Amino acid sequence: MAIHKILTLGDPILREKSQPVRKITPNVWKLLDNLADTMYDAPGVGLAAPQIGVLKRVIVVDVGEGLTELINPEVIAASGKEVSAEGCLSVPGAQGEVPRAAAVTVRGLDRHGRVREIRAEGLYARALQHEIDHLDGILFIDKVVRWLENQPGER
Ligand code: ZN
Repeated sequence: MAIHKILTLGDPILREKSQPVRKITPNVWKLLDNLADTMYDAPGVGLAAPQIGVLKRVIVVDVGEGLTELINPEVIAASGKEVSAEGCLSVPGAQGEVPRAAAVTVRGLDRHGRVREIRAEGLYARALQHEIDHLDGILFIDKVVRWLENQPGER
């Protein structure tokens, strides 16, 4: 069990593109464990590897329905549109309304290398889209249409 420091806005790592995982090794399992530990400790509903300084395409999400671990996740289908409040552990104190697809199908690998396809709606769909954005250096603040609290400035 290891809780990591979560990088915050202004850290250039958050703006970099993460690399795909080519081989699932014990290091990837450790990364998944550390991400989950850090997310639950925060607490948050999702965390992406670059947020703890690792530029690998790995995310965890738990919106209260159990832990989802995904390696190399991709949105393969999206439908509808929903504008809802969002925040981010890497942008403490800021909250804004962000438009996202209302439902998505996400494909990725689980820790055993099995292909998983997840169809999600509501908060689950939102969290998956938010975490996958992190893998491309995109933060929710880039997509806010209306600020609810503390518009952050990037230093
Ligand atoms: Zn985030």
